[in-house]
Amino acid sequence: MSTLPPDPAAGAAVKAADRAHVFHSWSAQGLIDPLPVAGAEGSYFWDYDGNRYLDFASQLVNTNIGHQHPKVVAAIQEQAGKLCTLAPGFAVDVRSEAARLIAERTPGDLDKIFFTNGGAEAVENAVRMARLHTGRTKVLSTYRSYHGGTAAAIHLTGDPRRWASDTGAAGVVHFWGPFLYRSPFHAENEAQECERALAHLEQTVAFEGPQSIAAIILETVPGTAGIMVPPPGYLAGVREICDRHGIVFILDEVMAGFGRTGHWFAADHFGVTPDLLTFAKGVNSGYVPLGGVAINAEIAATFDQRPYPGGLTYSGHPLACASAVATLNAMAEERIVENAAEIGEKVIGPALREIAERHPSVGEVRGLGVFWALDLVRNKETREPLVPYNAAGADNAPMAEFAAACKRGGLWPFVNMNRTHVVPACTVTEAEVKEGLTALDEALTVADAHTV
Ligand code: PLP
Repeated sequence: MSTLPPDPAAGAAVKAADRAHVFHSWSAQGLIDPLPVAGAEGSYFWDYDGNRYLDFASQLVNTNIGHQHPKVVAAIQEQAGKLCTLAPGFAVDVRSEAARLIAERTPGDLDKIFFTNGGAEAVENAVRMARLHTGRTKVLSTYRSYHGGTAAAIHLTGDPRRWASDTGAAGVVHFWGPFLYRSPFHAENEAQECERALAHLEQTVAFEGPQSIAAIILETVPGTAGIMVPPPGYLAGVREICDRHGIVFILDEVMAGFGRTGHWFAADHFGVTPDLLTFAKGVNSGYVPLGGVAINAEIAATFDQRPYPGGLTYSGHPLACASAVATLNAMAEERIVENAAEIGEKVIGPALREIAERHPSVGEVRGLGVFWALDLVRNKETREPLVPYNAAGADNAPMAEFAAACKRGGLWPFVNMNRTHVVPACTVTEAEVKEGLTALDEALTVADAHTV
C-alpha cells in the first residue's frame, strides 16, 4: 500500500484540471464531483486526503485481478521496452500467445480471436460477423441488458436511458429475458419462468420472421442491469431455438467473463457454447484497453477466402496483449478463478442472505462467484423498488444517501438504480469481504429508513 503522505493540495489541483477540461461519460458535466484518486493496490484505492476505499465495484466490474498486480505491471513495462505498437496485419509473439490462451479458455470451438479495444467494439464486430455470415439483418436482444455505448451496441442495450436518440437502430428487436423476482411473465418459480421466457422468445422469432434474424445476443448473466442469473435450461433453450432457425447465438461475456462468476466464463455454468463470444474487462483487468470476439470454426470459415470488412488500428495492441498474457497466466498460477468461486459460495452468498434477512430494504440477493446484486425495495411484500426507474435528484435520495454511507465506511459501492452490486476483485480475501460487508450492513440501515 502507498506510504506517501496525504496531499490534499495535489488532489485539489487534479480535480480543478479535471473540471476544467475532462468531459465525462454518461454525465451532466455540471452535476458531477469526481473523486481524485492518488493510487491503488489489490482490492483498494485511495484519494489524496488519506482516505482508503475497499473497491467493491472493481472499476466498472473490470479489475478481476485487483489493482496493480505486480506480474501484469511488469509485463507491460517489459513489452514497452521491446515493442510498443504494431499494426494489426503483422504477427507478434504476445498477440499470438494472448489469442492462444483466450481460445484455450473459451468453451467449445471458439478458437479464433478478433481483437478490439473494448467491449462495445467487440459487440459491433460480433453483430457484423453474424449479419455477413447469415446474410440476414435483424438482431434480437433483451430488455434489461447492457452491450456498450457505440452505434449498434447502444441500441442493442435494453435500457431506454442509454439510447442516445429515439430513432433506434435498424434491425434491432428487443424481447424479455427471464428474471423471476420481477417476472415479465408472472411466473411463480424458476421452471415456469424458463418455460414462459422460451415460449416468448419462440413467438418473437416467429413473428419477426426467422429468415430475417441474423443473431440473438444475450449477456450470459446480465450484469449492469441487475446480475440476473438465468434459470437452468434457459440458455440451452435459446441455443436450440438458434440452431433450429440458423440464427447465430452471441453470448456477451464482457462483464461476466474471465473468472467473475467463478468459472472462466459464465457459459461454463450452463454447459452452453455460443457461436460468438464477446469479451473485454477481465481478460487483462483493463490495465490496457482490450476486448475481442471469440469465433467458432463455422463463422471463421465464412471469412477464410472472403475478406472480413472490419478492423481497428489498435487491434491486438502489443501492450494490451502482453498484459492479457500475464493476467491469464497469473490467474491460473494463483488459482484466482477458484478463489472467486470459493469466496462467492462460502462467504459472500451466505453473508448477503443473512444481511437480507435483517434489513427490510433488501428485497432479493442474487449472484454467483464475485458477481452479486442486492435489489433494494421500499417494501418487501410489494417489491416496490427503493427508488423509481430512472430516478434523479430528490427521487434518488435514498440510493444517494446509501452510497454516501458506504463511502463514509470506507467502501466504494457499485450502485445502479435501486440496486447495489457486490463485485470485488476475484482476488479478494475473506478478511476483505468481511470488512466490506460490515460497512455495507451499516450503510443499509440508511436504506432501511426509507422503507414503508
Ligand atoms: N457488454 C457488456 C455485457 C458490458 O457489461 C459492457 C460494459 O460494461 C460492454 C459490453 C461495453 O464494454 P466497453 O465499455 O468496454 O465498451
